[in-house]
Amino acid sequence: MFDGLSRSLEKAWDSVRKDGKLTVENIKGPLRDIRRALLEADVSLPVVRRFVARVEDEALGERVVKGVSPDQKLVKVVYEELKALMGGQQAELVQPKYGPSVILMAGLQGTGKTTAAGKLALYLKKRGMKVLLVATDVYRPAAIDQLVTLGSKIDVPVFELGNKVAPPEIARQGLEKAKKEEFDAVIVDTAGRLQIDEKLMEELRETKRVVNPTDTLLVVDAMTGQEAAGLVKSFNDAVDITGAVLTKMDGDSRGGAALSIKEVSGRPIKFVGTGEKMEALEPFFPDRMASRILGMGDVVSLVEKAEEAVNADEAAELAKRMMTAKFDFNDFLKQYKMVSGMGNLSSLVKMLPGMNKIQEKQIQEVERRYAQYESMINSMTKAEREQPELLAKSPSRRRRVAQGSGRSEEQVSELVAMFASMRAQMQTMSRMMALSGGAQGMA
Ligand code: GDP
Ligand code: MG
Repeated sequence: MFDGLSRSLEKAWDSVRKDGKLTVENIKGPLRDIRRALLEADVSLPVVRRFVARVEDEALGERVVKGVSPDQKLVKVVYEELKALMGGQQAELVQPKYGPSVILMAGLQGTGKTTAAGKLALYLKKRGMKVLLVATDVYRPAAIDQLVTLGSKIDVPVFELGNKVAPPEIARQGLEKAKKEEFDAVIVDTAGRLQIDEKLMEELRETKRVVNPTDTLLVVDAMTGQEAAGLVKSFNDAVDITGAVLTKMDGDSRGGAALSIKEVSGRPIKFVGTGEKMEALEPFFPDRMASRILGMGDVVSLVEKAEEAVNADEAAELAKRMMTAKFDFNDFLKQYKMVSGMGNLSSLVKMLPGMNKIQEKQIQEVERRYAQYESMINSMTKAEREQPELLAKSPSRRRRVAQGSGRSEEQVSELVAMFASMRAQMQTMSRMMALSGGAQGMA
């Protein structure tokens, strides 16, 4: 699943890789590729249109980030938009204020409701919950047996009253039992419908009214493709669902349903079914799904880190100041924060090709030392930060900084000396560059 989508998106990145930045012109081709890739993956047309428009906005609006190429930036924008499209955050089951969680399963026939009810029971049981399954599909002859068999396989009790009692009544008695026997969760399996059928829908509403569920989950077959989104919308209008379970994600559907459901219905996918086995159920994570679609998780995290910290202009300004006598403790701290703001230094270094050899220990040592510097600089007065000479001249100032930061006077002296020599080196360097005519690049 999604292979086709990732492959066609690669073309999009390729076409902007050579250019310096994203522009209205060079982004046209990639946007067309993205649009085509999504349509081929069975994402519904209005969703594709809105999606592409958002990507365009974001891609052109993004500020320039040093060290990030246009194709990387575009990957990141598409990733963020995909994630948002699927709801952004993982949607958990609703927690009841008191009493058991009550989960009502709804959906068309054959989508995998009964299977999903069993899977969810096992999922909750593994999290330490005492779970009861309730069989209310009285229409299909073997439906109750099917749930009973699944229940015994995963060792979860199944409440049933045969097929002579009306579904809402079975559900009511099941819930009563669950409350009396202090179950933590009740999962109510319901009869399917071939299509949206008013009589069965009315019965579903009645069952819902009787058990007042914490979650009403619509089970949707991923193979439904384009229509999945509309289906969720109609069910939601009719019975007010809290989310969807997307089943048969292991099949050869093209994945469009996963991308359209939230956008069209406003309801999130909470779980996905990935096989016939009872273990084959996973919570749905929009971020993981987005990186799976792109197949480019590394690029996304690299761009994220670079963006978090580096404001290109500020970096250039600092470099300029470094070459002059103006560089002070404030600049020093800012420079350090730019690097440390990129997350931990060692994880950043690991992402750079050929840099793995740098010893973890050395990096930790640098990080530790800088944390000490920071605490000392934080204890300096404004004047001291701007004029490092003040500290060089005055032992009493150094003592005060040491006391304020909880460091020793030697450590403060070390910092002051280190800073003075760094500054001297930078000035020598800038003079040499000026002599060789190389300073223009820095100024
Ligand atoms: P219901 O009519 O909605 O209750 O659907 P069932 O739970 O009876 O499932 C219908 C068929 O789909 C069964 O053969 C299930 O084994 C199969 N099925 C359900 N979920 C999945 C899934 O996630 N992956 C695959 N491959 N098959 C599934
Ligand atoms: Mg069923």
